[in-house]
Amino acid sequence: MLTIKNLHAEVEGKKILKGINLDIKAGEVHAIMGPNGSGKSTLASVVAGREDYEVTDGSVEFMGKNLLELSPEERAGEGVFLSFQYPVEIPGLTTTNFVKTAVNEVRKYRGQEPLDAVQFLKLMKEKMALMEMNQSLLSRSLNEGFSGGEKKRNEIFQMAMLEPKLAILDETDSGLDIDAIRIVSNGVNKLRNSDNAILLVTHYQRLLDYIVPDFVHVLYNGRIVKSGTKELALELEERGYDFIKNEVAQEA
Ligand code: ADP
Ligand code: MG
Ligand code: MG
Repeated sequence: MLTIKNLHAEVEGKKILKGINLDIKAGEVHAIMGPNGSGKSTLASVVAGREDYEVTDGSVEFMGKNLLELSPEERAGEGVFLSFQYPVEIPGLTTTNFVKTAVNEVRKYRGQEPLDAVQFLKLMKEKMALMEMNQSLLSRSLNEGFSGGEKKRNEIFQMAMLEPKLAILDETDSGLDIDAIRIVSNGVNKLRNSDNAILLVTHYQRLLDYIVPDFVHVLYNGRIVKSGTKELALELEERGYDFIKNEVAQEA
């Protein structure tokens, strides 16, 4: 589904990604872990097509398409979803209208008619039930005055509405409390199926007790320096990142 080869990226002339290789197949959940500043959020942003990141080498192929040639909107249309670590607040725009626009933009890209009010309401009710979402959140301005847990729930709800092929969740700096861990993990587990894939950026080993990944990768200094299964996350929890840094130093 997603094949990243030798990906190099810079921000403001600073080299951050230094040769990332990653292969994600449909049905898989991959967790990216690693010390602060290693480039995890940069990787998520580059795949989703955020501005400010310049790809200087390598390729990103998604379902047979060169993702790097596409705008963020086109990538969303292709089925890539990136969660927001710091969700924006938009006064005056209700969550419902925001989600409706997003859903219909994706449909338009795919050559589908927009959902009419009845169809949209039906889809919303279905996903709200699935995500155990409180209706009152939807009529409030997007993220305005939302608690951390409400923002998380809203984000996972958006993901459920868009039914992405590849969901990228960057949880690194969001300070996940128990409530948020439960919301994210329930949501992700309910959406997990054999046709989609999830790239989960986290430094919370605990989250991986709830969302059991197929693969865990350690990103350090712009490279994936170690890959394994969920056992690797447990080893990191126990030993910290120092042993990884030492291994890298020895190989150099
Ligand atoms: P992580 O998510 O692993 O903590 P990031 O991808 O956020 O790491 O950051 C990697 C490095 O790139 C850090 O040194 C960070 O300061 C730098 N960086 C990220 N975004 C920017 C930016 N917009 N401008 C300048 N430096 C940035
Ligand atoms: Mg960080
Ligand atoms: Mg980060």
